[in-house]
Amino acid sequence: MNDVSARGLVIVTGGSRGIGAAICRKLAADGYAVAVNYAARSADADAVVAGIRQSGGRASAIAADVSNEDDVRRLFELAQAELGPLAGLVNNAGITGASGRLDELTLDVLTRTMAINVIGTILCARDAVRILSTRHGGRGGSIVNLGSVAARLGAPGELVQYAASKGAIDSFTMGLAREVGDEGIRVNAVAPGIIDTEMNSQERQARVGPTIPMKRAGTAAEIAEAVAWLMSPAASYVTGTIMTVSGGR
Ligand code: NAP
Repeated sequence: MNDVSARGLVIVTGGSRGIGAAICRKLAADGYAVAVNYAARSADADAVVAGIRQSGGRASAIAADVSNEDDVRRLFELAQAELGPLAGLVNNAGITGASGRLDELTLDVLTRTMAINVIGTILCARDAVRILSTRHGGRGGSIVNLGSVAARLGAPGELVQYAASKGAIDSFTMGLAREVGDEGIRVNAVAPGIIDTEMNSQERQARVGPTIPMKRAGTAAEIAEAVAWLMSPAASYVTGTIMTVSGGR
């Protein structure tokens, strides 16, 4: 475990399970204090926090719906009150919504998908910029967004609305990176392929697996490695980049 006072706080949205949980564990091992955000499943978030603390790290679980502006404001306030000054944000929280063709899509699913994946990401990034930007007296930092290869593959017949939400993440990442490039903030995205989490059924993994050049789904830990590198000072000249981690897909 590195010196946790050295690197500051990273807020990881949707850090309670799946890719987010792996990111929290990796960042804590790298020496960051970690705010483990979740929406509903507090036991999962508490387990991630307990594991980090057992390893000598600092972490807190904080409930907040990223699509709710008041929740997001409270998330940033509580995280900094408990864990110190902000160094970075990982916009990981996301949902796929119901799988199916577009002509079966309901407005409710569409609205929820865009609210969490797009509006949630942008709201959290906005509040991070207000804290981190040297323009506002901040110390700079790093933002990593979770995109998806679906943004370029389109997920036809299954999740075109989800793919569109991740296309928005790519545009937002490139635009914000340029907007705050000289304000001490780097903004990048990781675009995973099929990863073994609750988001992907075993049936889907078995069906898509053979089409992946490396013939397997990825692990959450493999995504966390990329996120942690983009967050770290080792990536000090990297901004506006979308790093694909997909086994070649
Ligand atoms: P997951 O296992 O379904 O976990 C989703 C996480 O997001 C949970 O911690 C959940 O909290 C949280 N969450 C959901 N709605 C939220 C909200 N409104 N506010 C705050 N947190 C919320 O998902 P995953 O597979 O790890 O995916 C993580 C990210 O990677 C997503 O952005 C996803 O689109 C992206 N991604 C995943 C894959 C893949 O194959 N798995 C591929 C490409 C991209 P609760 O537990 O409290 O519900």
